Amino acid sequence: MAEIDRMLEANERWAQQFPGSKPVRPARKVAVVACMDSRIPLFGVLGLDIGDAHVIRNAGGVITEDVIRSLTISQHALGTREVVLVHHTDCGLLATDDITFAETVEKATGRRPPWAARAFTDVDDDVRESMRLVRESPYLLSHEVRGTVYDVATGRLYEVE
Ligand code: ZN
Repeated sequence: MAEIDRMLEANERWAQQFPGSKPVRPARKVAVVACMDSRIPLFGVLGLDIGDAHVIRNAGGVITEDVIRSLTISQHALGTREVVLVHHTDCGLLATDDITFAETVEKATGRRPPWAARAFTDVDDDVRESMRLVRESPYLLSHEVRGTVYDVATGRLYEVE
């Protein structure tokens, strides 16, 4: 069975206990930028409810041009004013580097990606770099940003200064 079929079945159960519609503007005026890692159930980890926050995820939770696009829309059109970053231990991007990854893709497909994988070796440093990129973005109304690392072995977050 394809995963989509299992998901459509699960959605039937979800819809039966669906709590109802919420306003489009996030109630807690916060946007979370997090890694796509499958072990980080953000709503539970952060105590979020439906309608509370924007959640922007990508490989590594790194601040790319497209994350800035989403944060800009989040702030200018939908009223958020805080940004919270969630990186984590044992990230897939710790296991490679940008050149090795580009070579792997090129070897398999014949095409070298024009973008960098944005691999990193120190997760705290990468959180600091991501906070810097949010603070320096000229498009945002609010540069209130704090960064965290989630430990996938314990379920605990710690804040990066
Ligand atoms: Zn990750």
